[in-house]
Amino acid sequence: MTDCIFCEIAAGRIPTDKVYEDDRVLAFRDINPKAAVHLLVIPRQHVASLDELDGSHDELIAHLVRVLPRLARDQGLETGYRTIINTGAGGGQEVFHLHAHLMGGSDLPGF
Ligand code: AMP
Repeated sequence: MTDCIFCEIAAGRIPTDKVYEDDRVLAFRDINPKAAVHLLVIPRQHVASLDELDGSHDELIAHLVRVLPRLARDQGLETGYRTIINTGAGGGQEVFHLHAHLMGGSDLPGF
């Protein structure tokens, strides 16, 4: 066990509603959805936030970002979608394992 809930999800030790995974990233439904479709996309590797990134993460982050439109298509979000990465307490980050929110469909809140 680690004290990072998303590392535990990535390791399969905490169940989640998984919609996609590969060797580098994992996508699952947010437990408290703010829109009809609300996914979280995380790297398997623990990276606390955008603030932790350096050049060694470039391929991983490029891959994570490239997965987002593919997931949006798979979820039927043909007219568009919103992506959010909260960073730090002041940015509203609650889970300190880097994640992109992918949201769309009905109920998408105003921004
Ligand atoms: P953030 O505020 O950007 O750190 O977002 C963290 C998100 O993780 C929130 O939207 C939570 O609802 C979501 N979350 C926390 N625990 C879980 C979990 N076990 N499974 C799925 N989503 C979770």
